[in-house]
Amino acid sequence: MKPPLLIDPFNRNLTYLRVSITDRCNLRCMYCMPSRETIPRLAHTQVLRYEEILRIVRIGVQLGITKIRITGGEPLVRKGVYEFLSELGKIEGLTDISLTTNGVLLKDHLAQIRDAGIKRLNISLDTLNREKFIRITGQDAFTQVWEGIEAAHHMGFAPIKFNTVAMKGINDDELTDIARLSFTYPFHMRFIEYMPIGDHHLDRSIRLLAPEILARMSPLGDLTPIRRSRDDGPAERYRFQGARGEIGIIQPLSNHFCHLCNRLRLTASGQLRPCLLSDRQEDLKGPIRKGCLDGDIVKVFLEAVRFKPMEHRVDDVRQDEVRDAMSSIGG
Ligand code: SAM
Ligand code: SF4
Repeated sequence: MKPPLLIDPFNRNLTYLRVSITDRCNLRCMYCMPSRETIPRLAHTQVLRYEEILRIVRIGVQLGITKIRITGGEPLVRKGVYEFLSELGKIEGLTDISLTTNGVLLKDHLAQIRDAGIKRLNISLDTLNREKFIRITGQDAFTQVWEGIEAAHHMGFAPIKFNTVAMKGINDDELTDIARLSFTYPFHMRFIEYMPIGDHHLDRSIRLLAPEILARMSPLGDLTPIRRSRDDGPAERYRFQGARGEIGIIQPLSNHFCHLCNRLRLTASGQLRPCLLSDRQEDLKGPIRKGCLDGDIVKVFLEAVRFKPMEHRVDDVRQDEVRDAMSSIGG
């Protein structure tokens, strides 16, 4: 008998699994880990082993998952990650495997990433200024990140998408310069509204919503909207006339994209999470470590799908909905 597909109560077909392989990170971005020094860490035994992740992915593929993104924490800090990526690349039925990284360790590992079959990279880039990079991330690593970006571009990774969390008084004076990179390179520069996630968040005064983000770019000319394709993520896409790349706006607060969401998330601790912005999740690690059958894993998938909310409820007013940290869920 053919296994069921992952279709939720609102008729969304979930084909995209984002997998956080670690909650650890070599940076401490102010929007992701605002408490910097007091980040609770999972013990090694609490983190899913690679073979456990691969088993879950294989079963997910039988249920219709075709697209995987590896994220974290910083995925490239986990030991054995390149061998894991290569095993992932061998799973038949996956048509798209991509990686989200802060870029710090990218430069020296690009060949291994490419050889594992990954063509698409998302890189976090919140500033082009070394001093500000230290302020935002807590580490002096801008040069390493930029060298990694240049190297990835020259090696032919495409498209390279960038994530910039837009923050008033922090990097809003640079949004135009970051957007300008879409003229020089075929990069997709995506600007994200800050989401108040985790036990600690930044002051709401740093919040910059999509219309204000777009206004910061107006000196560069008019933005022409790009028609959405079926596999587009949450970004509203635009292009400046004459640009090689694109601009994207990701607006979880000012314009929910929930009705288009086709994602499930597997957290570093082995929880299957139907919505980034809701703490409801189903445990996979427990049953797996007790020796469950593949059919039991299917049941957990179906249960998570059954509880995918129609839309999230994190907005300007309600900030307490999501207690888990972004670094453990995987952004
Ligand atoms: N360490 C990798 C990186 O930074 O690209 C992958 C994990 S990180 C959690 C994934 C994405 O989540 C990053 O692009 C980051 O900008 C975004 N992110 C983290 N905290 C966020 C927040 N509070 N609001 C909006 N985006 C956030
Ligand atoms: Fe680390 Fe990424 Fe979070 Fe920054 S956003 S602290 S790089 S996990």
